[in-house]
Parts: sequence; structure tokens; C-alpha cells
Amino acid sequence: MLNTTPQTRTDQLMQDDHDHIAQTYKRAPFVLVHGEGATLFDSEGRSYTDWVAGIAVNALGYSDPGLTQAIQHGANGLIHTSNLYYTAPQIELANLLVEKSFADRVFFTNSGAEANEGALKFARKVQYEKGLTDKTEVVCFSSAFHGRTLATVSLTPKEKYQKPFHPLLPGVKVAEFNNLESAKGLIGDKTAAVIVEPIQGEGGINMATPEFLRGLRELCDQYGAVLIFDEIQCGVGRTGKLWAHEHVGVTPDIMTLAKPLAGGLPIGAILMTETVATAMHYGEHGSTFAGGPFVTGVAKYVLNRISQPEFLAHVDEVGEYLQERLSEINSPLIKDVRGKGLMVALELTGDVTPVIEAGYQHGLIMVNAGTDVIRFVPPLIVEKSHVDGLVEKLTIILSEMQTNA
Ligand SMILES: *Cc1c(COP(=O)(O)O)cnc(C)c1O
Repeated sequence: MLNTTPQTRTDQLMQDDHDHIAQTYKRAPFVLVHGEGATLFDSEGRSYTDWVAGIAVNALGYSDPGLTQAIQHGANGLIHTSNLYYTAPQIELANLLVEKSFADRVFFTNSGAEANEGALKFARKVQYEKGLTDKTEVVCFSSAFHGRTLATVSLTPKEKYQKPFHPLLPGVKVAEFNNLESAKGLIGDKTAAVIVEPIQGEGGINMATPEFLRGLRELCDQYGAVLIFDEIQCGVGRTGKLWAHEHVGVTPDIMTLAKPLAGGLPIGAILMTETVATAMHYGEHGSTFAGGPFVTGVAKYVLNRISQPEFLAHVDEVGEYLQERLSEINSPLIKDVRGKGLMVALELTGDVTPVIEAGYQHGLIMVNAGTDVIRFVPPLIVEKSHVDGLVEKLTIILSEMQTNA
């Protein structure tokens, strides 16, 4: 039905969204139209500094000339061919990923959840090939986030995400994050795989301790379980090293990647050791769109940029500065500042929603991680001057909250 009341274009778009899009996202009250560096512009001409980056995706920010050029170059070539055929960009991206990681082989996907789904299948197949057909359990951890598909949501122990969708994947055990004793109690002869984020993202920016990751590695070796690191959010330069597990020096058997890998285009990847890869044979897994020449060509450009030592040093430096400056804000509402590189949590004493909403009025785009945490996962190209602007505005917002409380 036609809406006859006169409306602005912005209002019309929001109305149409509410009328025609399945309402699973409660969106922020603006329509984004353009971006430049770490700044986003809405349809009313307002600008925002972006501390979200499409949730840890837009690593090179907006309108990056090199990225635009890589996209234009790719658009002149093949977009899609199917994995039935060889194409150079996919193979070259795999070469790069293997060269820069522990892994021997790569399987490409279209998203993070699809990468974790594949990782689970690969891990189960490792056990199946050994004739261990009842070694199928998966151990995950409290506050984890591994995706929204049925298998990956089964590894994401949060009532709101899981409860309406039962029955979930059977054989999932949830141990307490950073509690090795809890993991010991659940990892055993039946365990096919253990999946963990070296730094939990959605769960509130919680860093796995070195002892915890080392202990999981030992338990997986002891019981022949496949250790999966989900670096979909913390990987690809986010923490100031190319892979988050480099900070600890523990390597997994499988690592999953996605979010920033193609600078905003949809991609995921399952990186694995030769031992894992040899369990899979022709025809046993697949994905129509995954690893297409267009998206992998762009990802090659992004990965090359991010893995430059100067680029990673910049992330480290600005990240340190962000934590330092956030820690200087004098507000009784602040409980903790933590993180690594440009993956930083500002934990408050209560719900962060009002702070995020006030941020929009002040030209800040921020996102929560759970109820009490504001999560900073900006484009990796942000500068210290952006941090100064953020801290200035947050100081005002938090002091206003205090007086209103
Ligand atoms: C975002 C995320 C996923 C899911 O990725 P999608 O692309 O949304 O499917 C999985 N694991 C972690 C750690 C993530 O942050």
C-alpha cells in the first residue's frame, strides 16, 4: 500500500525497512551513504567517526584508493567461475595465507559461520578417517561466539541465540573460558574438536591466557582432538600481529578467518595443517560462491597491505594509545579497559546502550559486546587524533550520564 503522508527520503527508507525487511536487527537511527578513511556520512549530511568498522570488517576504512583500485581491477576480470575450475587469484591468496601462517592448506568460504561449520566437518572427518566414528564431541567455552547457523550457534552458549532453535547439534560441551580444570573435565576420548577464540569478541573482549591456550594444546595432543582457533574477529592484523595466537606462541590445527580478509567483501577461510587436510577427499565438502576470483583477488590486496610490518606496528601503537587514553577518563561508570591492538573493551558498571545512543548525537559510531561493554574495533587505519576526539566526546557523554543518573 502506498504511504501518502509526505516524508523525507530518509524517513521513507526507514519506514520501508520496517515494512519489508525481517526485523532481526535493531538499527541505529540513520542511513549511511558514504565513507572516507575512518569517517562515515549519513543521508542528512552528518558525519561520524567509525569505531565499529562493520564489526571488525572494514580494516582499510572507506574509499581507500588501493582497495578501490583492486576492486576495479577485479571487476574487469572474472567474477565467478565455480570451484570446478582453477583460477589464479584463489591460488595466489592461498599461497599468501600458507606463507604467512602455520597452515599448509586453505579452504575458502563466504562467511565466518561457514568457515566454522567447515572446520567442524573437517575435524570430524579427521576422526572418522581413523575409524573413530564415535569421537564426535565438540568442546566450546562460555561467552564464545562462533556464528548463527545451527551448528555454530550450538557452539555459542547464549540463551537468546540458542533457546528458540532447539534441537541443537548434539555432543557439544561447554567449558568455562580461561579455566583449564573445567576444560580438562570435558576433553577426552570422545572429543573430536576444541574450538576457542584467542580473544573473544562478541563475548566482551576477553583474552585467553597463555596458560589456557597452552593447556588446551596439550589436552588436544593428549586425546587426539583437533584444536580450532576462531580468529574471525581477532585475526588478520586486528591485535597488532597478523594472527592473535602469535602473542601466545601456541598454534592450532585449524584456524578460521573471515571478517576483514577482503576489506568488506564477503569471504571466509579455513586454514589447516596437512594432517587435517589429508582427511578430506574430492567431493566431501564444497561451496558454490566461495573463493571466487573477484573476492580472492581483493583479499590478496588486503592481506598484503595488512601484513606489512609498518601497518601492524601502526595498529599496535594506536591500540596502546587508545587503551591509555580511555584509562585516563575519570568516571565512576568505568569498570575496566582491556584488549589488544585495535580490539579494545571499555567495560561500564551497567548497560552501555544509552552511551552508544548518545554517541550518535556526538558523531561517534560505537557498538556493544554483551550488555556492559563498549567494543572498539575501528578501521585499522585510525590515527591518534581520532582517539583524542573519541576520548573528548566520551568524557562529556559519561559525565552527562552521571549527572542524569
Ligand atoms: C563474526 C564472528 C563469527 C561469525 O561470522 P559471520 O561472518 O557473521 O558468519 C564467528 N566467530 C567469531 C569470533 C566472530 O566474531
